[in-house]
Amino acid sequence: MSFKHFELKDIGKVTIYKKRSNKSLKISVSQDNEIKISLPIWTPYRIGLDFAKKNKSWIKDNLSVREKVFISNQPVGKTFHLELIQSESLKNFRSKIKNQILYIYLPASHSIYSEFAQEKIKHIIKETLRQEADVLIKQRLDLISKQTGLNYQDLRIKELKRRWGSCDTKGNITINLYLIQLPWHLIDYVLLHELVHTIHMSHDSQFWDKMNSLNDDVKGLRREMKKYKPIIYNQID
Ligand SMILES: [Zn+2]
Repeated sequence: MSFKHFELKDIGKVTIYKKRSNKSLKISVSQDNEIKISLPIWTPYRIGLDFAKKNKSWIKDNLSVREKVFISNQPVGKTFHLELIQSESLKNFRSKIKNQILYIYLPASHSIYSEFAQEKIKHIIKETLRQEADVLIKQRLDLISKQTGLNYQDLRIKELKRRWGSCDTKGNITINLYLIQLPWHLIDYVLLHELVHTIHMSHDSQFWDKMNSLNDDVKGLRREMKKYKPIIYNQID
C-alpha cells in the first residue's frame, strides 16, 4: 500500500491510498475528519484528486456531522478569509491581517489538524471576530437606533453561550460576538429586538406589536434565527 497527502483548496487535507485490493474509487471521512480516497493501485493520484473535488459537497456534509476543522480559505466574520501557513522556522503561533486575509502562521512542529493547533486557531479567530464586531455591530446599532428613534445607553460585545443579545433596565445592550457571522438581515433583527427592549422589557404583546410595526417579517426572521447557534462557523463554502 502507498499513500500521499494533499491539501485541496476549499476541502482541506486529503489522503489518497492506493491498494492492490481496491477495485474502485472510494471516499470516506474518518472520525478525526481525515478525508480518505482509496484508489486501485495503478490509478494515478490525479484521478483521486479529481474525485475528491467532484465529491466536495458530499465531503462537506460528512464533515459537518462531526466537529469541523478550521482550514484555509474559510470566511472569518464579514470581512476576512483565513489563510493557514506552516513554517519550519517558527517556534510560536503568529497572526496578522492584510488585504482582508487573516494569516495564521503555525510552527511546523504541530499539524494544522492537531487539537493544539486548532485551539490556537480558534482563539485567534475569536479575537478577530471580536474586533470586527466592535466596529460593525456598533455602526449598525447606531443606524437602526437613528432610523427607529429607539435609544440605548451603552453597547457591550461579549461571548455568550446561549443568547444572541440582551438589554437591561438602564438600556445597556449586550450583543453576542458570534452574531457578526450571521447574515446582515438577521443581525439587524437581533439589534432591532434589543432596541425594542429599551421601551418594552418583557416579550409581551406590546413588545411584539412594536416589533411588527417596525418590521413586516418578524415571524419569518425568528424562524430563520433558529438555524443558527452561537459558535464559530467554519463551513467550507
Ligand atoms: Zn428579547
